[in-house]
Amino acid sequence: MNIQNFQTIKAIAYCTRLRCSSINSFLEYLEPYFVSHIPGDTNKVFHGVTSSLIFSEPIGQKEALQSLLARDLRDIETNLERIANRIEDPETQIKRSFSTYSKRLNGWSVPLSSVSVRVEERFPEPYTNIDAWAMNFDVYDEQEFGIPRGVIFRRDYLLPIISPFLLAHELIHCVFSEVYSHHLARGLEEGLCEILGLVLSYEILDKDISQNILINFRLSESTARIWQIYTEAIRQAAQLYARYGFKGLKHILRLGHDKGRKVVKEIEGRLMHGHYRNLGLDCGEFVPDFDDFLSFFISYPQSLIVSPLSYCIAEKINVGDSVKKLVNHQGFESEQAFKALQELQDQVFLVLIKDDRIISDETKLFLETKTLRYKIHKII
Ligand SMILES: [Zn+2]
Repeated sequence: MNIQNFQTIKAIAYCTRLRCSSINSFLEYLEPYFVSHIPGDTNKVFHGVTSSLIFSEPIGQKEALQSLLARDLRDIETNLERIANRIEDPETQIKRSFSTYSKRLNGWSVPLSSVSVRVEERFPEPYTNIDAWAMNFDVYDEQEFGIPRGVIFRRDYLLPIISPFLLAHELIHCVFSEVYSHHLARGLEEGLCEILGLVLSYEILDKDISQNILINFRLSESTARIWQIYTEAIRQAAQLYARYGFKGLKHILRLGHDKGRKVVKEIEGRLMHGHYRNLGLDCGEFVPDFDDFLSFFISYPQSLIVSPLSYCIAEKINVGDSVKKLVNHQGFESEQAFKALQELQDQVFLVLIKDDRIISDETKLFLETKTLRYKIHKII
């Protein structure tokens, strides 16, 4: 298989659990490496890029970063081999998945009427300046601005696998968009779109791929507050699911479909006052592996982010180790390594050092689950 462009790498990166704390920083950092090796045979491109990341001892922050990037890339390469058959024209995938999702929505008794899904260079007025991959336009937009109801994808953000994944989210918005309303499609509605969109996406993707995409979009480190808002909305909707199950969420979908998003706003109002009981919703259909994923998602430790060298040191340390021996004899640059070890103790509280000894080490569980993550520093 040939790598046509960097979009393919991007798409597969979203499908992969990374050690890096920010998928955006990861892709921004690596784009120049890939651009200089593309086009080419997949194996050769990956080999070329990972070779450019080769480092030598002593290992300081920069070398640690190169080594970790190379390891994340190897995971992406493995995933690419696994799902290479899914790399095809995103517009074709969008069309096909629209049809699949529509059937499922019919099965949930929320058929979409007159909804179009299209790809355009830019969003129509007055949304032209909005920087989003895709947007849903509702009956309000249709009546006020003459924008046909449905979903528009921006062409420059199209990605195989990822665009059809996002379509599932947007179609849940469409369900709430059939009745005229001045309410914004925000808050609880976003959370419902994320959760029910994830379930819809299982129709076209393996569960672990869908879940990785959601993790990369919503748990990646970001300085932009907007992304925290999405994550918080998922937490709220997940609590609702925990009380009422799919039956409850589908009940809201049906109510929203028939009466508009004001129904969601009313429920959100109750939740914001702390009332999760007696919402008058159906209750049932709890799916054990989905329960587990949502619980994992809402309790994911987002703060365990360290420098690349701290990450590499965490992999080497053991209880009882001598600090001096570790920083001087494992190929590390000793001054930087000492600081990086301190960081594991002072910033994320996973290590305890006394005198010259490591007397506690809690890093392994978080390394194993990729919940300890490394940050790409601007100084490098
Ligand atoms: Zn949304």
